Amino acid sequence: MEPQEDAFDFLFKIILIGDSNVGKTCLVQSFRTGLFSERQQNTIGVDFTVRTLDIEGRRVKMQVWDTAGQERFRTITQSYYRSAHGAMIAYDISRRDTFSSVERWVHELQQFGAANVLTALIGNKRDLEAEREVRFEEACGLAEAKGMLAAVETSARDAWSVEEAFVMMARQLLLRNGMSVRRDDSAGAAPVLLRTNSHTVSLSAPTAATRKPCDC
Ligand code: GDP
Ligand code: MG
Repeated sequence: MEPQEDAFDFLFKIILIGDSNVGKTCLVQSFRTGLFSERQQNTIGVDFTVRTLDIEGRRVKMQVWDTAGQERFRTITQSYYRSAHGAMIAYDISRRDTFSSVERWVHELQQFGAANVLTALIGNKRDLEAEREVRFEEACGLAEAKGMLAAVETSARDAWSVEEAFVMMARQLLLRNGMSVRRDDSAGAAPVLLRTNSHTVSLSAPTAATRKPCDC
């Protein structure tokens, strides 16, 4: 059972960035309800969704901020980034241009975000395998090169790996806050988690020399 929304031990703010139409709003919606709703309106202003996760008995309140249609205008404000503990940079695996934009989003985050913001790369629309334009290995390489926590492929439509991506973020933030979190590969306690369709690769305590970008 989900813990009560108003009681929590930790509060983490997560921002979702990435080009328009990659499915950010659907991802948040899926995380909140487990349901997919076909058409998401271009939201006006900034939206946030709250869900409290139970992670090993700790109530972790995830406040997820959706960029709400501003991404086209490149006017996402500094204040949006500043207080984020975690960031998810989303692209659409069936549209290479959205993957090419990731570098720009990383740059914005570096410019405006906190120095220690944890970042995950999210390749959404995994269900559109037939139209795939970005290989998962490429995403892993980019995530590695940019010092991100993980590359994850999701489908908001099928609720595939959406929950896991948020839980991974929550667990990593707990770890960073000095909490001990049980090693659990499927939930992403390891510093680097690369998820493929069929398996999860966790590389624990990677060092610069031994860390492999992708084992998939
Ligand atoms: P945003 O602009 O990044 O917030 O994108 P939206 O969440 O509004 O989604 C843009 C479009 O992509 C909508 O038509 C969604 O129905 C569709 N979409 C979102 N997620 C997925 C997914 O995982 N698979 C597929 N096939 N379509 C998706
Ligand atoms: Mg949106």
